[in-house]
Amino acid sequence: MKKLIAAALTASMIFSMSAMTLCAEEGGTLVMATNAEFPPYEYHEGDDIVGIDAEIAAAIAEDLGMTLEIQDMAFDSILAAVQSGKADIGVAGMTVTEDRLKNVSFSDTYAEAAQVIIVTEDSEIAGPDDLVGKYIGVQLGTTGDLYSEDIEDATIERYNKGFEAVQSLIQNKIDAVIIDREPAKVFVEENEGLKILDEAFTEEEYAIAIAKDNTELLDKVNASLADLKESGKLQEIIDKYINTDTDNSEEADTEAVSEEATETESAAE
Ligand code: GLN
Repeated sequence: MKKLIAAALTASMIFSMSAMTLCAEEGGTLVMATNAEFPPYEYHEGDDIVGIDAEIAAAIAEDLGMTLEIQDMAFDSILAAVQSGKADIGVAGMTVTEDRLKNVSFSDTYAEAAQVIIVTEDSEIAGPDDLVGKYIGVQLGTTGDLYSEDIEDATIERYNKGFEAVQSLIQNKIDAVIIDREPAKVFVEENEGLKILDEAFTEEEYAIAIAKDNTELLDKVNASLADLKESGKLQEIIDKYINTDTDNSEEADTEAVSEEATETESAAE
């Protein structure tokens, strides 16, 4: 009997804890779902998860008077975690897409992004049109995965981590990797014999995913983001992780999305 009561108590505690999470009140915990395999937006440094998204989320949590908790999971589990209330926000270099907007709301956008093509230096692939019939590596559930399905006769190899796709390319198991520009730059810098093609595969924008019924949190996050843009803090965070000095391609510079530019992007019906 005692055991039963204890179990019931634990269950109700867990329930009220998750209800607390859902409310995202001042003094509470703001739970961020991410996939920390995506430098420079989120990656492991020792025991910590650091990067642009981690710092943006920390700044938002501070603004809301909350404590940030980061939960690391597979990229394709993030939206389910947000939808179920297991996490309050999904911050993972996540691109706003029509499909995702059916399931979650997105905040105003905070960074411009792109899917780019990584090939080996000696590759005959010079642009997106040359991908026809090729073996292409992507990260499971990402926009690279989604959009590469349109490439004629291509075979798509899906990996849990972007880095694993790059390893496969190095081992000549695939012909190209389609992945977000900033992680691509990190992977190419860390591995010899690779290059990023000049022409991007898609242009995209990142935003924070929030449960559709949590409009209160959506408003708070948008207000915080607006302050971070206005004060220059957002650009400061991006500049800390993306060194534009060593970047020889003008186009590749990542800039925080300006306030005006994002209004039409903002969230969901
Ligand atoms: N921007 C891509 C997407 O939203 C990839 C994000 C990621 O791998 N973290 O699908």
